[in-house]
Amino acid sequence: MKITCVECPMGCEIEVVNNNGDITVTGNTCPRGKLYAENEITCPRRVLTTSVRAENGKMVSVKTDAPIKKQEMLEVMQKINRVSVKLPVKIGQVVIKDLTESINLIATCNLED
Ligand code: SF4
Repeated sequence: MKITCVECPMGCEIEVVNNNGDITVTGNTCPRGKLYAENEITCPRRVLTTSVRAENGKMVSVKTDAPIKKQEMLEVMQKINRVSVKLPVKIGQVVIKDLTESINLIATCNLED
């Protein structure tokens, strides 16, 4: 499997081979790339960026404060869609604590009532 490392702007092209759980990584320039490639082949993760509804119907921009498992995205989005946030909201404020695996959903904008 060939992937592009997105851990920094260098964008190294990495080749990952999974031989029955024995993972070989080549093409990475640093250890971060090796870890990224190993995670991509075993359990890929992404920071989720989306919006959550506020009590008055406005939308609040949010993101997770750490990457979450890609396979959990749908379940997490369903959880987010059931919530409405109380205003005002400040950048960096936790709007859903422990969304998944102790990862929080935080506001990426200020929004007044
Ligand atoms: S392997 Fe290292 S240097 Fe290359 S893109 Fe990934 S983080 Fe950057």
